[in-house]
Amino acid sequence: MAIDFQENIHTQRIYDPFFETHEIELGILRLDELHPVVSGNKWFKLKYNIGEAISKGYASMLTFGGAHSNHLAATAAAANAFGISCIGIVRGFHAKNNLTETLRACVNMGMELQFISRADYDQKEAPEFLNAICKQFPSAYIVPEGGNNENGRRGTEDIASFIQDGYTHVALSIGTGATFSGMRNAIPDTVEMLGFTAMKGGEYLEASIEESLKNPLANWKLITDYHFGGFAKHNAILIDFMNTFYDKFQIPLDMVYTSKMMYGIFDLIDKGYFQKGNKILCIHTGGLLGNHSVRHLLQYNSIS
Ligand SMILES: *Cc1c(COP(=O)(O)O)cnc(C)c1O
Repeated sequence: MAIDFQENIHTQRIYDPFFETHEIELGILRLDELHPVVSGNKWFKLKYNIGEAISKGYASMLTFGGAHSNHLAATAAAANAFGISCIGIVRGFHAKNNLTETLRACVNMGMELQFISRADYDQKEAPEFLNAICKQFPSAYIVPEGGNNENGRRGTEDIASFIQDGYTHVALSIGTGATFSGMRNAIPDTVEMLGFTAMKGGEYLEASIEESLKNPLANWKLITDYHFGGFAKHNAILIDFMNTFYDKFQIPLDMVYTSKMMYGIFDLIDKGYFQKGNKILCIHTGGLLGNHSVRHLLQYNSIS
């Protein structure tokens, strides 16, 4: 592929007396440093989709997302970088005349937006709906919401190749579960994978993740207690954690996904979930664009 953002990836070990006390080692895989917009796991979910779209001669990519979707922004930036056009189907009309920062970024990168009702959006996987979309955009290669298709999961399997030996646990934040499934399929079963769901009631994802796993009984667990009230919800405790974390380690976390996972990891260490000598790798999946609504509360500029 002509453009590869992956060269910036590295693992950063972080040190703190708290980890020493518990005899835990903690590393962070910095996928957030890939690219300011096509950051983190989104690139991995898109790369084989873009590859297929281009090799099959499609002129554009079309995908789906909400008004704050990191996936829409990443698609816009990646399509832009590869020189194909793109269309974003946006859930609901609320942001149509008052674009969110994410949607404005999409438009600036050349994405054409089409707003549809929430009821229509719920039909986005139905064959009749997709047929209508194909008729309206005949030259578009269609990627489902969140990049959650076969190509998307295959791309996230590649993240595993950046994981150094010796980790006993891998922690990852979950939206659709595509990244989690792909990585679980590629990492040895001796490593326990912990998936921190970003939304309230994340237990519902268990069945669809199982379906995407080569071995549903592989060593994995969903952790559903750290949603802070729901998807993209936050409180003073979370914001304080983000600022303190940045202060200590100079690593920016996003408010929707990675801060909640990292808070959960600290809390689980505190509660004795891990054993002495465990080595935890936390995946920094990026998403820093999502901090726009809380930027006045943060002591750091997300897009570094
Ligand atoms: C989209 C996103 C996720 C969730 O990825 P899924 O594959 O949908 O589970 C996690 N972290 C960040 C920062 C994201 O933007």
